[in-house]
Amino acid sequence: MRLLLVEDEPNIARPVIRALEAQGHQVRHAPDLQTARELLAEAEPDLMILDVRLPESEDGGFILAREARQAGYKGPILFMTARDALADRVMGLDEGGDDYVVKPFDLPELLARVRALLRRVSEVKQSRVQYGPLELDLTNRSVRWAGRPVELSGREYALLERLALFPGRIYSPEELLDLIWGEEASDPGVVKVCVHHLRSKLDSRVVRTVPGGYRLGLEP
Ligand code: CA
Repeated sequence: MRLLLVEDEPNIARPVIRALEAQGHQVRHAPDLQTARELLAEAEPDLMILDVRLPESEDGGFILAREARQAGYKGPILFMTARDALADRVMGLDEGGDDYVVKPFDLPELLARVRALLRRVSEVKQSRVQYGPLELDLTNRSVRWAGRPVELSGREYALLERLALFPGRIYSPEELLDLIWGEEASDPGVVKVCVHHLRSKLDSRVVRTVPGGYRLGLEP
């Protein structure tokens, strides 16, 4: 897969690049925001690994993530952030990130996160996502539970698809309202009702209620 690593510290970048290349990935490396923008304009990577603090900005990684999402980048984004920046973690996910590692991290931990995110990329390329008994066909927007087709409304499908495509992420009701209903609803209560329908049509395990909102309740 084609990976973009944005990291200004050579002592971190070097071993990460070596480890990812050893796994057969093509890695392009940018040590700053400007280079990262140029590389992104040339070719869309399958996955981005972004250090948050870059030479041009304390929030360089977040800025880049936001720009990439606005430009239509749909691949996963993994942030690397300092341990003292706990609030940043949440912010990073709000900026369109899918996962994060806290520095200093072990290489095996980073590689495991990358593997998990890339697994999703290849599933999306096959237009099919599966978590245990749950199967989504992204082309037909159809769902099966334990092999049985389940009829969902458009909104129910959209909410489930969002959670399934970003399985590690927690979405607040307000965020889901914004993503799925847009201007057409303003009461986050509709999200709760939608989650209730998903649980009763599929299984109570499918969506998990966690502090801060909802996430996919199934493991791969
Ligand atoms: Ca840095």
